[in-house]
Amino acid sequence: MATCAFRDTRPTTARSTIWQVHGDDARAMTLRLLEACEAIRLVPPGGSVALKPNLVLADVAEHGAVTHPGVVSGCIEYFRAHDVRDISVIESSWIGDNTMRALRRAGYEDLCRHHNVPFFDLKRDVTRSVGTAIGPMDICERALDAGLLVDLPVLKGHCQTRMTCALKNLKGCIPDSEKRRFHALGLTKPIAALGAALKPGLVVVDSICGDLCFEEGGTPVQTNMMFACEDVVEADAYGRSLMGLRVGDVPYIELAERYGAGRARWCKKDVVRLNEAVDCGGYVGPGATVARLTRRVHEDRACSACYAALVRALYATGRGTTQDIFIGQGWQGASPDGLGIGRCCKGASSCVPGCPPTAEAIANVLE
Ligand code: SF4
Repeated sequence: MATCAFRDTRPTTARSTIWQVHGDDARAMTLRLLEACEAIRLVPPGGSVALKPNLVLADVAEHGAVTHPGVVSGCIEYFRAHDVRDISVIESSWIGDNTMRALRRAGYEDLCRHHNVPFFDLKRDVTRSVGTAIGPMDICERALDAGLLVDLPVLKGHCQTRMTCALKNLKGCIPDSEKRRFHALGLTKPIAALGAALKPGLVVVDSICGDLCFEEGGTPVQTNMMFACEDVVEADAYGRSLMGLRVGDVPYIELAERYGAGRARWCKKDVVRLNEAVDCGGYVGPGATVARLTRRVHEDRACSACYAALVRALYATGRGTTQDIFIGQGWQGASPDGLGIGRCCKGASSCVPGCPPTAEAIANVLE
């Protein structure tokens, strides 16, 4: 008999099937998932489809940070074949990177040209203030107004939230000013509230080679797997278990359920395997490496790009524990005794300037 990953004792919304496929051909795997879940029934009559991949920074999918372009190709081909006319790709990279640079580096520029599908940089989009569980939030209109918003995250580690998948990928649907505010608010509540505000109708997760530890890639783990689910919270709950993390390790998942974004539970019987695993490495928990590196890091509301740059620098130099390091908006105006990272920590004894500073700049100072 199937056992639940999370004991279900409360009334919930209907279960969502998790469709899972193994392989290394992102396009073919995506087509198979969309056909299995009959994704076309989720598009309102005459409605548009907005595809939201993860192009957090300028890199190629093989490094573990960005969504494989084959996933987007598969989506476009599927919805085109079902007579959807209005298909677009939308995204904004993290603070400190240029979305169009990320678009080109990941191969999306050629892809969009080949399929004659527009790409919209959401850093330039019009925003609307939306009431959420934590108050008004500015959200990009192209995400809000899509007939079907398809969330296409990479399942990977994250040096602050431990993992990132469907809920956190939606952070690319807000302007940079909101991204900064998310970090000032501590990420958990705003990520959960944004999930409830946007509630994508379909999630297709690229877990072919997501990064073990870092949002920005560099230590990819080949797992050759993808899955799709109509519930953004359930997708994250399942992804969390694949990463070897437990309930409570990623608090925004349960909070998103409380805010009405979906259900934070899944059962084995919810998972439909479309084929058997081939050549897949196992998942390894993402926490240990980062925990060791950041033992003397005092983080208070740091932006992702800033914190990731620091972790990358610590990783690259192997200098995880030699001095106290301060980072984040919470240190503004303070004079801590140690190395400050970025503009927010310019009051520290010494400081790496920038907003955010590069990993290279930090590594140079560490060395
Ligand atoms: S210095 Fe770092 S933490 Fe501060 S605002 Fe800039 S990117 Fe964010």
